[in-house]
Amino acid sequence: MITKTTPTRGQVGQASRAGTLALVGGELAFNFTNTTSGRGGARHLEHLGRPEDLAVWAHHAKIIGKKSARDLQRRFGDSPGLAGELQHRALELRDVVYAIGATLAAGKPTRSEDVDRLTGIHAQCVRVGHLRKIQGLYGWTWNIETYPVEAILGPIVLSALSIVCQADLSRIKQCPGRDCGWLFFDITKNKNRRWCEMEVCGNRAKQHRLRKRRRPR
Ligand SMILES: [Zn+2]
Repeated sequence: MITKTTPTRGQVGQASRAGTLALVGGELAFNFTNTTSGRGGARHLEHLGRPEDLAVWAHHAKIIGKKSARDLQRRFGDSPGLAGELQHRALELRDVVYAIGATLAAGKPTRSEDVDRLTGIHAQCVRVGHLRKIQGLYGWTWNIETYPVEAILGPIVLSALSIVCQADLSRIKQCPGRDCGWLFFDITKNKNRRWCEMEVCGNRAKQHRLRKRRRPR
């Protein structure tokens, strides 16, 4: 029998889905915050539990190529210090981007500590990056061999700054779905996007409403 169910984002204890997560944040930095869901709740899901997951996700999000992701995972074996540093600094960046994004989505002013932390991470990354012309456009690049942590975090922190510095902060939204909390940048004309994914949180909420209505009194 084939049972049709709402797609899920994996269950607690299951293998990481870092390589297949939906990239629906509209901005790289929000896709990064969306590597976990249900923060602080009983159904909290973490897809970046290991440094290897970060390498897999960075390739999935097109920050690094397939070969670089594989080389990086190989380097983790030789250098647990590098793996630990990447994991620690990546989750720190994810926390701060989430704090800023969720605050702006709620229409509140950001805390200066969070913004200072973000600009501090930006400074660390830019210090070892290079501004280069690639395919006619100037952009920041990092040598992944020499600076693997910055090569992954650099593009994310630049994306986060572009979100904070853009004109219309009301396009920053947080999915109201149960156990979700995903952030996204709403680019719809009327700014009426509500869900991270209609097929996931939108349908779940609809089914919940229907079940409530059918419940005998
Ligand atoms: Zn959602």
